[in-house]
Amino acid sequence: MNNVPLLDTPIEYLSGVGTFRADLLKLELRIFTFRDLIQCFPFRYVDKTQFHRIQDLDESAAELPVQLRGILRRVEVMGETRSRRLVGVLREDTGQSIELVWFQSIIYLEKTLVVGAEYVAFGKTSWFNHKPSLPHPEMEIVTTENTTLANAFEPVYPSTEKLNARSLDSRARRKMVKNIFDKLQPETLGECLPEYLMTAYRLMPQYEAYYNIHFPKNQVDLEAARRRLKFQELFFLQLKMLKNKQHQRNTIQGYSFERIGEKFNEFYHKHLGFELTGAQKRVLREIRHDVGSSRQMNRLLQGDVGCGKTVVALLAMLIGIDNGYQACLMAPTEILAQQHHEGIAKLCEPLGLTVAFLSGSVKGKKREQLLRQLKNNYINILIGTHAIFEDWVEFDKLGIAIIDEQHRFGVEQRAKLWKKANPLPPHILVMSATPIPRTLAMTLYGDLDVSVIDELPAGRKPIKTVHCYENHRLRIIGFMKDEIAKGRQIYVVYPLIEESEKLDLQNLMSGYEALTNDFPKPEYHISVVHGKMRGEAKDFEMQRFLNKETQIMIATTVIEVGVNVPNASVMVIENTERFGLSQLHQLRGRVGRGAEQSYCVLMSAYKLSEEGRERIRVMCATTDGFEIAEADMRLRGPGDIEGTQQSGVLNLKIADLAKDQRILQAARDIAQTILEKDPNLMLPENARLKHYLEVMAQTAKIWSRIS
Ligand code: ADP
Ligand code: MG
Repeated sequence: MNNVPLLDTPIEYLSGVGTFRADLLKLELRIFTFRDLIQCFPFRYVDKTQFHRIQDLDESAAELPVQLRGILRRVEVMGETRSRRLVGVLREDTGQSIELVWFQSIIYLEKTLVVGAEYVAFGKTSWFNHKPSLPHPEMEIVTTENTTLANAFEPVYPSTEKLNARSLDSRARRKMVKNIFDKLQPETLGECLPEYLMTAYRLMPQYEAYYNIHFPKNQVDLEAARRRLKFQELFFLQLKMLKNKQHQRNTIQGYSFERIGEKFNEFYHKHLGFELTGAQKRVLREIRHDVGSSRQMNRLLQGDVGCGKTVVALLAMLIGIDNGYQACLMAPTEILAQQHHEGIAKLCEPLGLTVAFLSGSVKGKKREQLLRQLKNNYINILIGTHAIFEDWVEFDKLGIAIIDEQHRFGVEQRAKLWKKANPLPPHILVMSATPIPRTLAMTLYGDLDVSVIDELPAGRKPIKTVHCYENHRLRIIGFMKDEIAKGRQIYVVYPLIEESEKLDLQNLMSGYEALTNDFPKPEYHISVVHGKMRGEAKDFEMQRFLNKETQIMIATTVIEVGVNVPNASVMVIENTERFGLSQLHQLRGRVGRGAEQSYCVLMSAYKLSEEGRERIRVMCATTDGFEIAEADMRLRGPGDIEGTQQSGVLNLKIADLAKDQRILQAARDIAQTILEKDPNLMLPENARLKHYLEVMAQTAKIWSRIS
């Protein structure tokens, strides 16, 4: 939007707002300026052409909202204390009436509802003895103002009780938006997309889109406005991200690892012990290209559980070492970091490399010595928890850093790594814990290069997954005994969430007791691990299981991330309905790591929510992490996908990453094409883009000052 002065006007200056209501708008909806107000889009529209008739209301369709029109005949407060309610009667011109009931905001509503006036009531019906009533309907008085708007869709805005109580309901907001449009002309609003783009993709002009998203005349205009604004939102997001990426590429120097040397070759040809999959080879080539290009690598490696990301990371680190640099690998938990350390130290022993471990638990003299050795370039590879990113950890020459199983966005960690630049920043490879949908990756990690390992090592048998209820338990126990007799190990996992921690632990402990009855000593041994145990006790139990001293590991989700016990071939998940899809996928990924046929048993209650049932269905239908991630996003929406919560990138105003994938893809492709042709947006035809990016950056600055 080009007209900075008008749209940046503080909201209190809009006629009829004033400081008091302005403060409420800021507090409740973070509306500070005229721009914020017109960018607060309606979430639905009242279609004035469509009214239901009371006699046609359908009890079997009670979950669908209805819209009625009639005269409000009376309102009165009824009942005492808890059953206190406001009851009104709406009479249609057919002569039929319906009861309206409110349990909240009674005083306010009693004061403001006008008996004798004509209203539109919107809500879901409630039925008693086959008679409908409307609990808590939205009420909209029919005035001359909106009768002249007959045939129009009227916008309904997101609101709160507080706003409604201060006459900032939808009707007032509509007026406010109208007021802005009275002052705002197409010329003063301007256009942020180039003409050629709007023509090619048949996009509505900006002014029209804003007007129509608030006051559409019909469904067609509304859809066109939505499409245009969604495109605009996603397009500028991508343009900004791709520009950052391009800037990084062109300006940020990195070490050039020119040699593929001795250690890499020795490991690759003598000690690897298996053939890399095609996908692993491809990704390794991509990494080699990056680290050899004298630009800093910023790469995300996505791959399903068990696809073999670690060995790729190790090979990348060896390239760094062959070129005279140090490497580090960070894992999110102590157990995982230790496991990486053990595995990698063993692999590196024949190469004569020094691999060290650092976490918060490495203290005193040991830590001092380690830090000294690190600074002297005696240590080649440092593996540990996030402790290795602390400022007091100084490398001599850190050339490449791997971040494993990253659940969170990692921007912070990446920033911390920058401080270790000496003189240049290390190459960075982030390995994702869970596959995320492509559209989400594009948005969250749009400024990184992305590699995907989409192939599992040969010879892996797909895990067999079954859904069972309590009445199958005996058979499951028999099955577990058969597997143990074959020498396999078994995980039994219980959910544990903070809100119901006590109950969950009880659940786990009674599960443990039941299991000790079914699997008695001395034939069977069982390990228990849960989040409430002390670190050492946990490690001790893990170790017993790893050493095959116990056959069953009963645990909460602490085993979720990364842990590798190839001999474990059965995963029994209790209360499956309480786990999210990506968690289930991660858990299942703990088995199926050896050559044996592996199984995953999903135990659940009989009664399942629709979503719970769908999650279990998806788990039984596929083992493909990307497919599961897509399903997860579909079911929960992008905001709830693991790792995205703190990312401001997802505060979208109108676009929806789950539903608008095609628009997003188009937006990204177009942004890419434009930047390839005109990297700095210097062409006259792209002047609007350049200008709008600048306005966006300014607004972001203002925001960071406000919050
Ligand atoms: P993730 O990608 O989940 O981190 P890992 O790196 O832990 O997976 O690898 C899982 C297992 O697969 C390890 O035991 C590893 O040695 C093995 N592995 C990795 N690549 C191959 C391959 N190309 N062929 C056979 N086994 C492999
Ligand atoms: Mg891993």
